[in-house]
Amino acid sequence: VLEMHQVETRFGSHVVHDGVELEVRRSEIFAVIGGSGSGKSTLLREMILLQIPNAGRIKVLGVDLAHITDDAALALRQRFGVLFQQGGLFGALTVLENIGLPLREHRHLSDPEVDALAAKKLAEVGLDAAVASQYPSELSGGMLKRAALARALVLEPELLFLDEPTAGLDPQSAAGIDALVLKLRQQSGLSIVMITHDLDLLWQVTDRVAVLADGKVQAIGSMEELSKMDNPAIQPFFDGPRA
Ligand code: ATP
Ligand code: MG
Repeated sequence: VLEMHQVETRFGSHVVHDGVELEVRRSEIFAVIGGSGSGKSTLLREMILLQIPNAGRIKVLGVDLAHITDDAALALRQRFGVLFQQGGLFGALTVLENIGLPLREHRHLSDPEVDALAAKKLAEVGLDAAVASQYPSELSGGMLKRAALARALVLEPELLFLDEPTAGLDPQSAAGIDALVLKLRQQSGLSIVMITHDLDLLWQVTDRVAVLADGKVQAIGSMEELSKMDNPAIQPFFDGPRA
């Protein structure tokens, strides 16, 4: 569902990506890990059409991102959802209004239809109906993530991008997100690409993981496979699962 070939990215003379190769399969939960500054967020921005690499090819859901027209980009954006690290909910809108926003922008539906679909997503991410009328500032970190996830899912995307979905959450809320991500994939056959440092999430939820270092994907495999590899470039990430 997603391919990157020989992707190169530079900021001035600073080379961030120096030939990144990776392929995400349909219905898979795929993660990108790497040290701080290794270019994970930049890679994600390139996948979601927020940034253009200096060289290389990227295909998302069968669409080549090079020279993509504005119309094609608009259509493609509606086929994937993004959970940004900060959540990105609008503080002046209620949770239900936030979740319904993509429907108002991209679907011709009546207000009651929008609210009904938004309420359905709210329930799917495990939030109580009473949360619908609350404002983002009233929610806990874990609830905010769930609400933002509901908004990312409301257009029924084929591909979901998650940037650090459990960062900053207490262990219990993080475990709730782990379970939710697994449930999403089971229900819909959704493909998921995430950036995370969370070893629980990596070991318990992901199918395959790409290790980004020195501008390249140094290894790809399940956590089990990666943990057995004798590769100094990936060793720093393998302390094993949390006891
Ligand atoms: P972290 O784990 O700290 O979030 P990261 O792997 O997400 O790191 P990126 O944010 O992708 O790393 O940044 C990779 C490198 O590119 C860093 O050295 C960063 O300073 C640089 N960089 C990122 N965006 C820009 C920009 N817009 N202009 C200049 N340099 C940038
Ligand atoms: Mg980052």
